[in-house]
Amino acid sequence: MERGTRSRGAGNDTVLRVENLKTYFDTPEGTVRAVDGVSFAIRRGETLALLGESGCGKSITALSLLQLVPEPAGRIVAGEVWLGDQDVLALSERDMRRVRGRRMATIFQEPQTSLNPVLTVGLQIREALPDVADERAARRRVIELLESVGIPQAPERYDAYPHQLSGGMKQRVMIAMALAAEPELLIADEPTTALDVTTQAQILKLLKELQRQTGTAVLLITHDLGVVAEMADQVAVMYAGQIVEFASRAAFFREPRHPYSQKLFRSLPNRLKRGVSLDVIAGAVPRLDQEFRGCRFLERCDFAWDRCRAEVPRWLEGADKGVRCHLYDPPADRAAREPGSLANAVASEGTARRATPERSRGLLEVKNLKVYFPVQRGLLQRVVDYVRAVDEVSFSVPAGRTLALVGESGSGKTTVGKGILQLIRPTAGEVLFDGQALTRLSERELRPLRRQFQVIFQDPYSSLDPRMQVGEILEEGMRAQRLLGDARARSKRAAELLAQVGLPASARHRYPHEFSGGQRQRISIARALAVEPRLIVCDEPTSALDVSVQAQVLNLLRRLQEELGLTYLFITHNLGVVEYLADEVAVMYRGRIVEQGGAEEVLTRPQHSYTQALLAAVPKIELPAERTALPVSGRDGRA
Ligand code: SF4
Repeated sequence: MERGTRSRGAGNDTVLRVENLKTYFDTPEGTVRAVDGVSFAIRRGETLALLGESGCGKSITALSLLQLVPEPAGRIVAGEVWLGDQDVLALSERDMRRVRGRRMATIFQEPQTSLNPVLTVGLQIREALPDVADERAARRRVIELLESVGIPQAPERYDAYPHQLSGGMKQRVMIAMALAAEPELLIADEPTTALDVTTQAQILKLLKELQRQTGTAVLLITHDLGVVAEMADQVAVMYAGQIVEFASRAAFFREPRHPYSQKLFRSLPNRLKRGVSLDVIAGAVPRLDQEFRGCRFLERCDFAWDRCRAEVPRWLEGADKGVRCHLYDPPADRAAREPGSLANAVASEGTARRATPERSRGLLEVKNLKVYFPVQRGLLQRVVDYVRAVDEVSFSVPAGRTLALVGESGSGKTTVGKGILQLIRPTAGEVLFDGQALTRLSERELRPLRRQFQVIFQDPYSSLDPRMQVGEILEEGMRAQRLLGDARARSKRAAELLAQVGLPASARHRYPHEFSGGQRQRISIARALAVEPRLIVCDEPTSALDVSVQAQVLNLLRRLQEELGLTYLFITHNLGVVEYLADEVAVMYRGRIVEQGGAEEVLTRPQHSYTQALLAAVPKIELPAERTALPVSGRDGRA
């Protein structure tokens, strides 16, 4: 029987024990082995992080534990799931309903979709409470729970509907609901992915505190190494339906062993990698409707050799850690491959520091920009006040440079971007593009200039017309701007653009939905490039992507800047991205810039208390690459 990690310590304090779980899906193409022999255990008060990129089986593992695998296509074909001494997979649906939300609770990424919009939050938490003597006591308990998750004015919030709460507040309500029944196990599936960095920090702190008080075991599903560093006691790395590495948090961050784990670290952007291409995990997770004869990571691994092709790596286990890779297996053909240390690999990626373009006057200059939205009241819709979304914002971006605009959601970053692009007409102030005041131009005068400043959004899917083929999407802008005379020239240019962003020419005849998130973002970049812009406003262009795909997109943006001399205004809340890419940083808080300056200066010696708080909120990862020598010792197989 194939095993994943051995379930450790099945003693009295083991809350969840999963043994050789297999969940398959029947599809027209064949049987997809989404979860293929996964084993782990979680003790009381412990957090196990299940880490990996999209499509590797993390969420299906969680759904399997809850017996919520979508039927009829999906089915659990083998394995055991024990919650305490209860055999979960032997329970009927009726009994399972008593387990879900009571003994096993869940928090998902999108509280919006998990909360019922027509019920008050108080009632929703009330429903999750186990038997309470009377309604007054129940109401008191709900208010206590709202207070315990840090919701202010809890008695009033009892009667609020979900839409009246912010994203962070809704996630707190989800946590209160999940904890109402005092579950033994909490499954948190990307609980902070949709939140900004400061709200994320508050939610993670809250989860830790509540866990400390209640002793709940937590299965944390995430693709974010920062969240793992902050929260996990144990880490299990999943790839293509299997666990490929298991370790304590300290051991994992000190010495990630599996080549996939090492690549995850190497693809993270940070200050030390400025001017150097980030390592990317080329290719994709393999199709899971095949029988594997070798290693599943084979096609993406830098260390693969003949044995990896011919033999499925077995699970190698040591005290509280394990790995699935031939590099650590005794009969390894040692001469075949000599994987260098991670530190060396990073060094060999290239040392070409970015040549700093000469400072010039700002291609983009923003002076005292104000964007106010009127607040109207009464029958006559009289303007009674203004929301100052952007207030007296000034900065300048020289040609060929990158300015990062950072701050939490709602701080006005995106509104600044829209004000610059004249998608919102500013209330006051000036936007000068190459010396020309865009704010004084009519829409007609702006039209021919528009091609010089383009935008890339966070969600490429909603910004690409699903009914148009990629070729048409790329040619649309050229046609509108009357670039290139005839259809043949435009089609040739579309093929060139696709090559420039690393997509095949055949992509022209396909639709956006046929591409992955990272590929769609490449299409958005190609579309922006089609009209030969000089400035690109990048609005959170990588925040929806897995870390390795993010690395590919960041590498591409950096290369295009070098080749084409592009100027970027980079709107983001990811400070790792800022450290890696930005020359200058402007920090926004409540519509104003509270600090700005050189990226190194602002990020290492922040002056404003808000910048200091923002930096403190970012989960810290100590990268193995920052040390001198690294892993891959222990290739003798002694795990
Ligand atoms: Fe790479 Fe081979 Fe290890 Fe697989 S078994 S991760 S291909 S070295």
